[in-house]
Amino acid sequence: MSSKTVGFVGLGIMGEGMAKCLIKAGLKLVVWNRSTAKSDAFKATAPDSVTIAESAAAVVAACEITFCMLSTPEAVRSVYEMDGGVLAGVSAGKCIVDCATLAEEDMKRCSADVLAKGGRFLEAPVSGSKGPAANGQLVFLCGGDQPLFESISLELDAMGKKSFFFGEVGSGTRMKLVVNMVMGTMMCAFSEGMHLCGSSGLDAAQLLEVLDLGAIANPMFKLKGPKMLAGDHAPNFPLQHAHKDMRLAVEAGAGFGIGMPASTSPDVALQTHPQSILPRMQTANLPPPPRTGLRRRRVCDEACKGRGPGRARFLSRLRVPKEE
Ligand code: NAP
Repeated sequence: MSSKTVGFVGLGIMGEGMAKCLIKAGLKLVVWNRSTAKSDAFKATAPDSVTIAESAAAVVAACEITFCMLSTPEAVRSVYEMDGGVLAGVSAGKCIVDCATLAEEDMKRCSADVLAKGGRFLEAPVSGSKGPAANGQLVFLCGGDQPLFESISLELDAMGKKSFFFGEVGSGTRMKLVVNMVMGTMMCAFSEGMHLCGSSGLDAAQLLEVLDLGAIANPMFKLKGPKMLAGDHAPNFPLQHAHKDMRLAVEAGAGFGIGMPASTSPDVALQTHPQSILPRMQTANLPPPPRTGLRRRRVCDEACKGRGPGRARFLSRLRVPKEE
């Protein structure tokens, strides 16, 4: 057990469970969340271990190490840069560990901003969802300050089952996007399989059994399949975040000149055919489908052929309206 105090900014679906794991490991927390109802509820679960700060800057100022778990690139930018934001609290030696899933360029900007104020920075996006966050079973995919990574093994071990260090800031994020890109394509194929079964007179419950006995059995199908059958679409990983990650992965692929048709197709499908996919997926607040499927399919096909004018046009069309 430790008597350290650490900061935590962002008590959402993931942050709440992660912060609870830190408390279970004996740490004291100073927290801030945009919606005060969440920080109040969090403090009520462990009043002696939690202090609510009046701003993200106050969290950082009070702690040597602050974990951030915010939702989107826009949210992160806002909470870092606003009055009373993360950056306002950074001074020499302050350590920021950012666990959100962003684009590499976002992480690099956050890192540069923290370093410019004399602070230290580790990117630490996570693999795992609400359950693993609550149970300390996340996988941390880190990049940046390696001595900082090594010095926070207690905290990472409290929240996760394994932590990787890949190198410079951006490398952890790239790995995270690859992981979520694979997951997104799997979930789309799985959803379409369930849909095809149900629509063609086969029993989708039997599909789950068949899949589970074969080489593509996996914990995700096992977890989500029965929920999908039961019509339980309560979000653990909101679809808008899944879509954000697919978009970021496709953009990353474009940056490396790689066409990724399988990953691009679900991304397009999420925007163009939500009515056929959503009933089979756990959803929340899907961005509106702005264009017809055929038109987007054509643009997608162009983009997947490789470099060329179609790619830029395609990527610009993947931009999702801001939700928060
Ligand atoms: P979430 O519950 O939607 O939100 C996380 C936090 O972001 C909340 O504290 C929320 O504050 C805050 N926030 C959002 N917009 C904000 C803004 N404009 N200003 C200030 N705060 C803002 O997200 P999550 O599911 O925990 O995910 C957090 C990150 O982890 C995301 O990058 C996601 O892609 C990644 N991730 C998620 C999962 C998953 O299964 N959920 C798994 C792996 C990685 P409020 O409470 O005030 O809304």
